[in-house]
Amino acid sequence: FVEMLIKEILLKKMVTSILKKGGSNTDEAQIVANHLVLSNLSGHDSHGVGMLPIYIRLLKANLIMPNQQPELFKIDGSIMMFDGNRGFGQAVGKVAMEKAIKKCKSTGLVLMTIRNVHHLGRIGTYGEQSIAAGLISLHFVNVTDHPPVVCPYGGSDARFNTNPICLAMPGTKKQPQILLDMATSRIALGKTRLAFNKGQSLKEGLVIDHTGQPSTDPAVMAAYMFPDRIDNPPIGALTPLGDYKGFGLALFCELLGGMLSGGGTVQPEHPRKKSIINNMFTILIDPKKLIDLSWMHHEVEEIVKYCKASPPAEQGNPVLVAGDPERQANSERRASGIPLDDETWKQLLIAGESMGLSKEEMHVNN
Ligand code: NAD
Repeated sequence: FVEMLIKEILLKKMVTSILKKGGSNTDEAQIVANHLVLSNLSGHDSHGVGMLPIYIRLLKANLIMPNQQPELFKIDGSIMMFDGNRGFGQAVGKVAMEKAIKKCKSTGLVLMTIRNVHHLGRIGTYGEQSIAAGLISLHFVNVTDHPPVVCPYGGSDARFNTNPICLAMPGTKKQPQILLDMATSRIALGKTRLAFNKGQSLKEGLVIDHTGQPSTDPAVMAAYMFPDRIDNPPIGALTPLGDYKGFGLALFCELLGGMLSGGGTVQPEHPRKKSIINNMFTILIDPKKLIDLSWMHHEVEEIVKYCKASPPAEQGNPVLVAGDPERQANSERRASGIPLDDETWKQLLIAGESMGLSKEEMHVNN
């Protein structure tokens, strides 16, 4: 595959113009575009602009509803429950977080849920929103309306999705924020799409094939990546991270994110229209209601310093903490551009053209 480096500004303009053509108002189109491009900048190409062709297909099938606001259907003390009405997750999620953050500033603790929203994207974005407000946040998310792609530990076929968890801790003057943001499968589904587009094999242990046997071929996941394919590609599954521990965490994403939000788990009584619905359970904490902030900053700095002082197991690979790889990717990619493979680029152009946009209207020069 051929890789090109594209400047974030061009990608933002391109994605914004395609989304506006899809019916989003300027504000929504920009929020979604900024979110997708920030995922690329953070090194998470699986949740970057490569998702747009999928969104366009789902928009055309009325499985994403543009211009929705989070609907606060229940408020009780510190509890806020929103319905996303199948709106763009990136936009609905941002506004719901703003409302929850505002409340947390007075109550010190908020339990916020969002049900029935389309793909929230990179969950770390919501952790970063809390951090920017000086708050700590915990997010547990399930994925429904999509055929399951992850097998339970000890099983041989898929029963749930990549259910992400995000835990966010504000930084200090010396120590940048700590942001643990991860799928509970060993890799995110989008990473198999990227490997497939690039013609690369996967590392061992990440997927099983349709017979339940270990595989390294990303094509075992093609049935989920390209649901319109007519050649009936075999249906494999991703494996959970950390065997039964990751499976346990994924199950709690179903119970907290899916069940407690009122959205539902991925169990098969619920319809699966082949889109990506997320349900999110979020706890926001104002740390200054619990501890002295200067002591907190000192503890954050010292515990990270202590961990990082461990001699590297491999020469030249020092200990990192969650958030470090994204920071590194961000500074590199802001400077030199976002690497995109030619297949992902082609899929983006086709998505724009299918909405009736010319290359000029997509802000693409050649
Ligand atoms: P990943 O495995 O690349 O990183 C997971 C976490 O580990 C990050 O916090 C990262 O900072 C940390 N990390 C990575 N390398 C490290 C190292 N060497 N030392 C210490 N920490 C390290 O991420 P992933 O699991 O592939 O998830 C990718 C993205 O997919 C996330 O942003 C997630 O929110 C998103 N996602 C979204 C959905 C959804 O339905 N919306 C579903 C699944 C995943």
